[in-house]
Amino acid sequence: MARVLIVDDIADNTQLLKFELEDDGHEVFSLDNGQACLDSVADVNPDVILLDIMMPVLDGMSTLRELKGRTATRDIPVIMISANDVDEQIINALDMGAHDYVNKPFVYPILAARMRSALRLQESQRLLALANQSLAKLASQDPLTGVYNRRYFFDRAASEFSASKRHERSMGLIMLDVDNFKALNDKYGHTMGDTALAQLCHTAGQLIRAGDFIGRMGGEEFAICCPETDLPGIQSMAERIRRTIEKQSICYGELSCCMTVSLGVTHNLESDTHFEQLYERADQLLYQAKEQGRNRVIAA
Ligand code: GH3
Ligand code: MG
Ligand code: MG
Repeated sequence: MARVLIVDDIADNTQLLKFELEDDGHEVFSLDNGQACLDSVADVNPDVILLDIMMPVLDGMSTLRELKGRTATRDIPVIMISANDVDEQIINALDMGAHDYVNKPFVYPILAARMRSALRLQESQRLLALANQSLAKLASQDPLTGVYNRRYFFDRAASEFSASKRHERSMGLIMLDVDNFKALNDKYGHTMGDTALAQLCHTAGQLIRAGDFIGRMGGEEFAICCPETDLPGIQSMAERIRRTIEKQSICYGELSCCMTVSLGVTHNLESDTHFEQLYERADQLLYQAKEQGRNRVIAA
């Protein structure tokens, strides 16, 4: 059942309510003022708070304001319980984010039903947040490799480009393409090709710095955006990726093969006004790497 925190300064009220809640199978915690609630709420980690209004040290309305103002406690449903049934107070509490307002003396089964309603809402909000998280992931990620998809990569890289320009910081970009990937697919099969792409992204992911990010531009072509990195820095990272990939075996079932990659590396110039200019330059350099024999880094 639920973890219920009762905050009330009248011990008799708390005791009575505690018995009834425990009878219903809830785990009950009690505190006798608002400040104690704020101090202990992280430890208690309640599913719902039943909050009295008239209390010493810190009253219920001030406690509610604090609870709703803090990220860690904002989503815990709070039911106000008060002898004060002045309309203005009820309206204030609900506007400040209380889930419900119950007058004393209350009828326990009705309070319990209101609590269940608060818990149901809380649960559906939690599930909705989870669903939103996985939707956001689906919308931004390439399913095979786990790196960003092209659209998301471009959005993020473009905003990194603007930030770099604003703060006059260097930003690097790598374009990477697998060499002769068609031949690998033809010789070992499409599943081996898929394994190679997933492994490539995993390896590159381990070699980049925190803050750098990878996107799949299509097929076997990837881009790596490296904010706050100068050209020598990004060039040596690209070379590290190239060498590591070259030495790795890709295994699928009984089969094993190797692959190499070509990389074009550039950084933002003062004359660049859009991220696309950086992108096109890196793409041209990648093309040169292919022309000059593949399995190499060309930086400019
Ligand atoms: P180059 O060195 O010039 O880049 O030659 P390449 O063979 O790598 O380039 P090409 O563009 O001729 O072929 C790319 C191949 O990548 C063709 C396509 O079937 C394959 N490919 C694209 N996406 C995937 C994928 O998701 N999985 C697998 N297994 N293959 C893919
Ligand atoms: Mg290729
Ligand atoms: Mg290609």
